[in-house]
Amino acid sequence: MAAAASADARRRDGRGRGESEAGRVVARFGQRYIVALDSAHVGASAATEVDAIGRGRRLAIVVGDRVHCSRERGLHVIESVEARRNLLFRADANRTKPLAANVDQIAIVFAPQPPPQPQFAWRALLAAGAAEVAPVAILNKTDLECDAALTQLEELARLGARTLRLSARTNPQSAALQLEQVCRDRVTLFVGQSGMGKSTLLNLLIDSQLRTGALSRRGTHGRQTTTATRWFAYGPHGAVIDSPGFHEFGLGHLSAPDLAGLMPDLAAVSQPCRFADCQHLEEPGCQVRAAVARGEIGRARYEFYRQLLTQACEANSLRARR
Ligand code: GDP
Ligand code: ZN
Repeated sequence: MAAAASADARRRDGRGRGESEAGRVVARFGQRYIVALDSAHVGASAATEVDAIGRGRRLAIVVGDRVHCSRERGLHVIESVEARRNLLFRADANRTKPLAANVDQIAIVFAPQPPPQPQFAWRALLAAGAAEVAPVAILNKTDLECDAALTQLEELARLGARTLRLSARTNPQSAALQLEQVCRDRVTLFVGQSGMGKSTLLNLLIDSQLRTGALSRRGTHGRQTTTATRWFAYGPHGAVIDSPGFHEFGLGHLSAPDLAGLMPDLAAVSQPCRFADCQHLEEPGCQVRAAVARGEIGRARYEFYRQLLTQACEANSLRARR
């Protein structure tokens, strides 16, 4: 709202640099962006995707942002970013960087082979909880022996995820149908460790040539990238976000007390801890540690919590020293 109002004001007071055009940031290459202008819906041609730069370096712009652009010497300039519904972060060598904005759900793709790291899905669930985004756990390659993976899927369901079981290889039609039902009218960010079949599944949803072409498209600087996060419109109201080079969600923005609250298995037992600010470490009367000792909370989940807590404390003290 504020963004649109300021664009109008610019036009009225004569400082305007031509008509303001609204659109969606669909890709980012360093300081360059690709914006799908809203006019794209009329002709739906690739030509209505334009290269753009941000007005000044201070304007934070993320894939998924709704933006307003002006045009200067043939180049689109992003003048303002509308308020975001939410923002997800990725972790990059101990630093947290914005990944995508305005997401409805996170689809976590995993498979029995290669063996998945449970922590990947756990981090994704935490990121989803922190951003108030719905998690969907997708077990792919169900044509392979998958007892252990099914146990993981059940755990993810207990932790709050909607679940799907697919085989992109042996039952692509059913996989496409189920994915369509989940993705219709929603903005879905797909994540997964490499080799799980995420690309194969996305190719069932989006025209594979479009996808491959978009991901290897050259930015204005001529730098080719196949690792950028990319937003694909999916039907009139939905979108699918592919993030091929993505490894882990960044959780560095979460505080220590947030963490246990975002882990449903810990949150369920921690209410009667003796101390209201219990960190579930060495404190007496800790119900989380008691539940771990009784086997109600898995040791791996508890170790995961401790590891995140250490990282959160380190991140906090770094912030305090800056
Ligand atoms: P990504 O790294 O997650 O994007 O994974 P890919 O889509 O590139 O797939 C990795 C490998 O898994 C490829 O060899 C695919 O052919 C294979 N694959 C994908 N889906 C299935 C499936 O449902 N069953 C089996 N057995 N293999 C699959
Ligand atoms: Zn406790």
